[in-house]
Amino acid sequence: MLIDTHCHLDFAEFSADRDEVLKRAQAAGVEYIINVASSLENSRAAVSLSNNYISIFSSAGIHPHDAKDFSKEALAEISELADNKRVVAIGEVGLDFYRNLSESYVQEEVFRKFINLAEDKNLPLIIHSRAADEDTLRVIKEERFKNMRAVVHCFSGSGQFLESCLELGFYISYTCNITYKKAHDLCELVKSTPLDKLMLETDAPYLSPEGFRGRRNEPMHIKLLAEKIAEIKEITFKEVADKTSENAKALFKLKI
Ligand SMILES: [Zn+2]
Ligand SMILES: [Zn+2]
Repeated sequence: MLIDTHCHLDFAEFSADRDEVLKRAQAAGVEYIINVASSLENSRAAVSLSNNYISIFSSAGIHPHDAKDFSKEALAEISELADNKRVVAIGEVGLDFYRNLSESYVQEEVFRKFINLAEDKNLPLIIHSRAADEDTLRVIKEERFKNMRAVVHCFSGSGQFLESCLELGFYISYTCNITYKKAHDLCELVKSTPLDKLMLETDAPYLSPEGFRGRRNEPMHIKLLAEKIAEIKEITFKEVADKTSENAKALFKLKI
């Protein structure tokens, strides 16, 4: 059994064939999917997907790219959505200083709001941190959220950042970009991540694996990611599948 802990099946890329995509995922051994929200609108769509499909759970939150659209009203509605039983996390939230689609101070303010919301709701955070290692850690530390549970998704930080995240007890999830020919540094990070802190995600429709680049990604490809991790860590596919699923169930407290 595999769990895709991060994808965006509510996106328009999947409108025409969502059911087919889910069937293919199931055939590839993907039993559960966490559909991650990235805006108020996507939070509504994610929750409605998880209400309609037994294999899908969802999150609620605003991506740092969209932090500029944050408002008190949006926070209130996301807070309400987070009370839905199928919502298992707040996210994806965080900082992205690579693309800087929202002003950095706005991203930081919004990230703080969602850290507080996760604390209020006793939910884990799905953190997006790109080119922002130090600021992500600073904000988290300043918020002093005791027993914070989190996953840093699509991990791409430094070895030092990885170490700090592990010290905080966070989970680390990797995407299919570790299958790329030039992903040597990412593979080294995978090696340094203990199996009991590791999770799998496609981030579909983005980041298709090697051999499928340029095309839409989908949850069935999580199998290729698990194979790659087994190869890097020199363990069996089954060990990767079992342990990463166990980790996802523990972090998100999946009621299955
Ligand atoms: Zn992200
Ligand atoms: Zn994402």
